[in-house]
Amino acid sequence: MKRASLISLAASVPLLLSSCDAHIGSKHIDLPWWVIVLIIASSVGISLFAANHEITKNKYKCKECGKTFYPTMRQAVFSLHAGDERVFKCPHCGRKGFCIKQ
Ligand SMILES: [Zn+2]
Repeated sequence: MKRASLISLAASVPLLLSSCDAHIGSKHIDLPWWVIVLIIASSVGISLFAANHEITKNKYKCKECGKTFYPTMRQAVFSLHAGDERVFKCPHCGRKGFCIKQ
């Protein structure tokens, strides 16, 4: 019990002691570091959610076999792209190359 409370105290001390100076125009604001982390993490989370919603809802057509498929979020994030075309491995024929957005 005593050890657990010491660990939680040690973990919370950096949250209380650290801060970031923010200069917005002529104003000087002292923000705790976790506010900055929270803003950045929520921005990244919203961006990933929007990208997932936008990319994975589109069908892509293989240039080799002509069949269509929906890419996964992982495939879409790590694929090369130019315009509306992205490089995917076709789940039907196995060809890897540019696929056209439908
Ligand atoms: Zn194919």
